[in-house]
Amino acid sequence: MEVINEIRFSMPSHSVNESAARAVVSSFLIQADPTVEELSDIRTAVSEAVTNSVVHAYRGTTGTIELTVKLLRGREIYIKVRDRGCGIADVKQAMEPLFTTAPEEERSGIGFSVMESFTDKLSVKSIPGKGTTVIMRKRLSEHGD
Ligand code: ATP
Ligand code: MG
Repeated sequence: MEVINEIRFSMPSHSVNESAARAVVSSFLIQADPTVEELSDIRTAVSEAVTNSVVHAYRGTTGTIELTVKLLRGREIYIKVRDRGCGIADVKQAMEPLFTTAPEEERSGIGFSVMESFTDKLSVKSIPGKGTTVIMRKRLSEHGD
């Protein structure tokens, strides 16, 4: 993959940082001139991934969430959200629509489905006790102004 530009940042897993992460990613992506809809989809997908690290990975504790955003040749966006939290024992099951381990907290189990439908490619790697890495890719449309 040919990287045209990239940013990396990390933050403590405070829920207030969900909106901060969205804002940083959006402002970085402006250079690629995404449509309003593309930007909104990416913001939503980033929120879901970061929220999962906040509420599941570091449940009851505070840890570090690392984000990497790359603009690749061919108008492709690469986003990595990584935590070193509790990890996921069964990733396939976790990614099933409506599967949640926190139903009593009004979680609906749609986070991964949202990430999947709002991006072109979703990869989730996790090691119990070590943490989770979510990578999303999305190609932006060619559009004249
Ligand atoms: P919603 O996203 O609708 O609020 P949810 O977070 O439970 O609900 P998903 O985002 O689809 O649903 O995640 C499914 C399950 O995968 C979670 O309930 C949790 O058990 C697990 N999970 C997801 N991300 C992580 C993570 N970063 N660390 C540990 N567990 C995770
Ligand atoms: Mg979720």
